[in-house]
Amino acid sequence: MHESGQTEFRPAPRLASIGVSKILQIGARAAEMKRAGLPVIILGAGEPDFDTPQTIKDAAKAAIDAGDTKYTALDGTPALKRAVADKFRRENDLHYALDEIAVAAGAKQILFNALMASVGPGDEVIIPTPYWTTYSDIVEMCGATPVLIPCQADADFRLKADQLEAAITARTRWVMLNSPSNPSGAAYGEGDYRPLLDVLLRHPQVWLMVDDMYEHIVYDDFRFVTPAALEPRLKARTLTVNGVSKAYAMTGWRIGYAGGPRALIKAMSVVQSQSTSCPSSISQAAAVEALNGPQDFLQERRDSFRLRRDLVVAGLNRIEGVECRTPEGAFYAFAHCGGLMGRTTAGGRPILTDADLADHLLEDAHVAVVPGSAFGLSPYFRISYATGTAELEEALARIAASCARLEQNRT
Ligand code: PLP
Repeated sequence: MHESGQTEFRPAPRLASIGVSKILQIGARAAEMKRAGLPVIILGAGEPDFDTPQTIKDAAKAAIDAGDTKYTALDGTPALKRAVADKFRRENDLHYALDEIAVAAGAKQILFNALMASVGPGDEVIIPTPYWTTYSDIVEMCGATPVLIPCQADADFRLKADQLEAAITARTRWVMLNSPSNPSGAAYGEGDYRPLLDVLLRHPQVWLMVDDMYEHIVYDDFRFVTPAALEPRLKARTLTVNGVSKAYAMTGWRIGYAGGPRALIKAMSVVQSQSTSCPSSISQAAAVEALNGPQDFLQERRDSFRLRRDLVVAGLNRIEGVECRTPEGAFYAFAHCGGLMGRTTAGGRPILTDADLADHLLEDAHVAVVPGSAFGLSPYFRISYATGTAELEEALARIAASCARLEQNRT
């Protein structure tokens, strides 16, 4: 009992192992330091610094003026579902009927609906690490068990067929794959996917959830592919997840979507019906324009992200003790920092983990990065390079100087 006589708040057991995302925590601390007047550079955010294209904003304004301001169909307006079906056909050679498509308030809600609708205690979900933090948290919130498989930089952060085969049990319900990946930026080409899909063909009880959120942010000659198109025999147990947040710089509009088997899509709509009812009508109208409208700015943005990637990867690799693989996509660099472990700060504090290093960089260099531990793989740190080049150059210079100030521990 609280001294006021009221019973203290008691969180539900399902929240026992789940906290506010570490990425948001670091962002909040960095923002607080910035408000206090410190010159903090935040490289933690997972969103493009570009604005939403004007044509998309105009479509939203037109929807408001047309009175498109009421509840919509539960899991997406027919217009948006058609735009999504057309997108899948045009870009991925995937053919979905409208009742095989779901729209939700972000891809995050799509993933939540899918897991909520399909797993519970006793079920296992295979997640290669490093992974986007949310995956394992949602699995745990649903009472199921995340089975985490480490995929290090020297394996190009990609799950291999023998690892997948060894992780599958009679309890496995899903494998979650994300390409290009947040946080590693690594992507699966056709040749990387093929052996994994062959394993899945041998295990008909295992379903595949693929998160293609960064499909449009790929570099050089990398060719994006998605498993349901690559292996039609798996389409009946694959959920292909995507959204407008990253490609169209629409993180705040909250629209994600998926294509998948009818029965799963229906079960997901039941979850949605008892949570958000439907995504925002105005955002849905904007997303129709994003998918159906001009796509030429995607190339410009890709080019700009590629220049930043090259700048960041080269800058990180110049730092003694840090190694960074060149990512195929997304806007993240995931650097190995094993060479800095065991060193000490000028104040005598040992750097034993990547979280210690992230703390040090925030305090000493005033640069916010996210430690690999937030994504299930250490010792690494993630830099989001969705930031202007001048700021990135300044941040890299500060990180390099701050790492150089760390002393080798001679004890
Ligand atoms: N999937 C991945 C891999 C992400 O990195 C993110 C956002 O950071 C999402 C999904 C969620 O996107 P949305 O804004 O559509 O919820």
